[in-house]
Amino acid sequence: MIQSINSIPAFDIKQQYATIEAEVSATVLEVLSSGRYIGGPLVEAFEQQFAAYHNVTNCIACNSGTDALFLALRALEIGAGDEVITTPFTFVATAEVISAVGAKPIFVDIDTTTFNLDLQQVAGAITPKTKAIIPVHLFGQPVDMTTLMAIASSHNLAVVEDCAQSTGASWDNQKVGSIGHLGCFSFYPTKNLGGCGDGGAITTNDPELAAKLRVLKEHGQKNRYYYEEIGVNSRLDTMQAAILQIKLRYLDQWNHQRQAIAAYYQQFLTQLPGIVAPQELAKGVSVWNQYTIRISSEGRNGSSTTYRDSVRTQLQERGVSSMVYYPYPLHLQPVYQYLGYQPGQLPVAELACHEVLSLPMFPELTHEQQDQVIYALKDCLV
Ligand SMILES: *Cc1c(COP(=O)(O)O)cnc(C)c1O
Repeated sequence: MIQSINSIPAFDIKQQYATIEAEVSATVLEVLSSGRYIGGPLVEAFEQQFAAYHNVTNCIACNSGTDALFLALRALEIGAGDEVITTPFTFVATAEVISAVGAKPIFVDIDTTTFNLDLQQVAGAITPKTKAIIPVHLFGQPVDMTTLMAIASSHNLAVVEDCAQSTGASWDNQKVGSIGHLGCFSFYPTKNLGGCGDGGAITTNDPELAAKLRVLKEHGQKNRYYYEEIGVNSRLDTMQAAILQIKLRYLDQWNHQRQAIAAYYQQFLTQLPGIVAPQELAKGVSVWNQYTIRISSEGRNGSSTTYRDSVRTQLQERGVSSMVYYPYPLHLQPVYQYLGYQPGQLPVAELACHEVLSLPMFPELTHEQQDQVIYALKDCLV
């Protein structure tokens, strides 16, 4: 067995901080001494910059990506008796918010190549109760928004883009989050644009939805201390807005670094037998929040989980960390048992859960480290 000199983490936030430490700490100290910790011009400026980056008219900052999705569904007045179509192969928040507003998640299977929603199945799942679709641009890879928007508009459905893993990605030269009716973003530290804590935002070109969102995120307050509906408290802290303003300036550079890293992996991994490297669609530009391969379980006597997991363990022994996003599909989670999905019903998502492995991916990853990952992978794939 090859012993590695340095171990390679799956992601490394400290390294990125080191590159912008001077700028960030100066801003943080300024905010601290300003005495203004909630709202204010820094939050407004960030909202404007984030809207401009996406070429949309409105950005509403909030407390998290989960809140962004929740508020989006509330602004669309989706609730009891409504159905919302989404993917079972995503972080739980995507579906959780559908339940949180009282609506019913409808899970459809994913596409083998992109891990994103299978759009033909989306069309087939529409009923008179369907009110919206939540596509997730998973791992940074954009959904085919041209096809999805055509399906949605022919049925008069709202589209809420879950852009939590894809800030900066684009489909047909349009940034994700600017194509659907609402775009929902997360600034969780490991996302492409990550803060130093929780944070989120919603983008939209619809002024009416924007106005509703601003009321909902502030306790449903329309005028000062006057409430017409039940809202929530969902704010982006001033400190986070100040830090995110700095990081937004580096976002394209960091995303380009991720793209170069993905291209380097691609070059070597596509030749490895037993591995399926990720692929981009012609009109999509991924920002590679994750570089996720499949480790084929074919001919492994059905012990597929064991095989991917054993590769993961062997990689770890060679000093290479990797992650499994996601080990269980949402439609088979205990929390969604009441919906009545059966194992085998969404086979592509279920197989993905057995086969996926996300390799180290962060802008500062070096070619030498990547060589070590590739070498270790070759070594343990037998
Ligand atoms: C991270 C994430 C969220 C939730 O964002 P938070 O800021 O952690 O609340 C939602 N959807 C997806 C796909 C995510 O990856």
